[in-house]
Amino acid sequence: MKSFTRLAPCIVVCALLLGACDSNSSDSNAPVRVLISPRNVTLVQGERLQMTARIIDGDGRDTGGTASWSSSNTTVVEINAEGMLTAVGPGVISIQARAESLTDATTITVREAPGASSCGPFDSWELSPFHVPYPEGTSYTLNQGNCSGFGHSGFWKHGYDFIMPIGTSIAAARSGSVLFTNETCTDGNSACTNLITVDHGDGTVALYSHLTTDGALVSAGDTVEQGQVIALSGNTGLTGGLPHLHFSVHPCGQLPGLPGSGNCPSIPANFSNTNPNPEGPQRGLSWPAISDG
Ligand SMILES: [Zn+2]
Repeated sequence: MKSFTRLAPCIVVCALLLGACDSNSSDSNAPVRVLISPRNVTLVQGERLQMTARIIDGDGRDTGGTASWSSSNTTVVEINAEGMLTAVGPGVISIQARAESLTDATTITVREAPGASSCGPFDSWELSPFHVPYPEGTSYTLNQGNCSGFGHSGFWKHGYDFIMPIGTSIAAARSGSVLFTNETCTDGNSACTNLITVDHGDGTVALYSHLTTDGALVSAGDTVEQGQVIALSGNTGLTGGLPHLHFSVHPCGQLPGLPGSGNCPSIPANFSNTNPNPEGPQRGLSWPAISDG
């Protein structure tokens, strides 16, 4: 009993100390650092990797909070809200994790998948189900074609950039049903791309991108006929400042920035209603949309 009474004041003091400790630790609970792992990773196109971002307080402990993720270039790497990273196409980019005002970044290198260096094979252009993606009687010059580098490598290596002024009519290259549209971006904004995807019903999906503001003339679920004007071209997204239409064909509609994963790299396509193009239209030439009726 005597020893208890001697202890009692100590218990009070200890409790006070603990209380003081508690208020100290709630101060140091504030995050002071974000730490991404793993760091400086190299992946092969198509690979996925779970990233983590620890949010660390002043005592070096995890706060248990979650960071938001972003990729500096989604044609190279996509990363979702849970930190699942997809290697989309070759390149070197950075990903960033942010918590409140704190950030951390690391470099991700993506190498082209083995065997992905060939640009073909292409089926007969005369029998192609695709028409050039603008109305009959018009003709546009190709700035980038298949495997031309710049934006047309890796995930995007099959595709065509037709130079055209903002507001030019875009025609469906093939009949199908509209999967997705976005038309909210402003011309000149490289971080935001207006686009339409059309599902042809045979496992191929066409992408029409860099459209102008309010440039989608159809809605998801609409049926479109080959040659129907479906959009107005523009200068949104990664155009390099040059207004043009990007057209490419994919084995599914889950493209970078769109719902689903970004693992549907472009596939070869050529066009039956223009000049001979056994390996698709070539750069620097104008490609007329000729009536094939
Ligand atoms: Zn392009």
